Amino acid sequence: MHTNVEQIFTFIDQESTFIEEQQSATYLEGVVYALELWLEDKKVPTVTNPTKEQIRKAIQLAILKGMKSTSQVNHQMTPDAIGLLVSYFVKVVAKDKKELSILDPAFGTGNLLYTVMNALPSENHAYGVEIDELLIQLAAQTGELLTHDIQLFRQDALKPLLIDPVDVVVSDLPVGYYPDDETAQDYFLHSKEEMSYAHHLFIEQSMKHVKPGGYLYFLVPNTIFESKQAPQLHKFMKENGWIQAVIQFPASIFKTKGQEKSLLVLQKKREDLKGPREVLLAKVPNMTNKEAMELFFQKIDIWQEENAK
Ligand code: SAM
Repeated sequence: MHTNVEQIFTFIDQESTFIEEQQSATYLEGVVYALELWLEDKKVPTVTNPTKEQIRKAIQLAILKGMKSTSQVNHQMTPDAIGLLVSYFVKVVAKDKKELSILDPAFGTGNLLYTVMNALPSENHAYGVEIDELLIQLAAQTGELLTHDIQLFRQDALKPLLIDPVDVVVSDLPVGYYPDDETAQDYFLHSKEEMSYAHHLFIEQSMKHVKPGGYLYFLVPNTIFESKQAPQLHKFMKENGWIQAVIQFPASIFKTKGQEKSLLVLQKKREDLKGPREVLLAKVPNMTNKEAMELFFQKIDIWQEENAK
């Protein structure tokens, strides 16, 4: 007996491989073709009532297969382990809200944001911005199959965005230098001495597009506060928001050494609110150790309760 995830993956894989072999296209272009067949009801996987998570996971497996040979580090899909932890945090913010608006300005395949949306009980409306045409196409098809309420923009996210401020920003930021120096000049966080860091500019752009009191969850390099441009970033964060938490992930979940990331949680300042009593600094344990993970989540719950007082 095959599971729904296996059935859906097999369907996408067969169609993608066929296209790859017949039309000198890439496997990922084949995935676009397979999803198009499914959306247009021309050919569909043989499954009964798949859940949104089953559909997301199967598409994720196919995209991961396609990315294995081609993708650069900055295009890689956000691993599920990270998406699940971010969902845990966002669920707390969403608890008392009927509706939630969410933005991911570096949307990629959408895997991170869809993981979060699938985990939320509230109704949510999301916005995604992505510069890469193939990735945003895959993301749009996945969003349609998951029937999520989402608006996508194919553009450079550091150029002006036609998006109203949201409740929550969630993003696995592209890391490195931003090549468009002219656009960077519009940012407080541009560097006068060298090219500006894209991940710093993304933080500033996101802060602009979140409501006062709203939360921002960023995947950032572990070394973000050690670089030459870090003092300016510190200043910006202090003036505009509060650092709520910095959580380091185990190196084992990242494919490439030196690319390890942490989850940085910020809240945009609002006059009637105070900053956190204590910034949560934590390390995620080995995720296969159930007991250690339970203790870790307990620690987060206690911190969140203390902060809410
Ligand atoms: N969370 C995504 C997922 O699950 O697929 C992965 C995000 S990936 C680490 C970073 C993404 O930022 C890449 O897809 C890249 O194409 C995109 N990107 C890089 N620079 C950009 C820019 N200036 N504007 C919009 N997107 C950009």
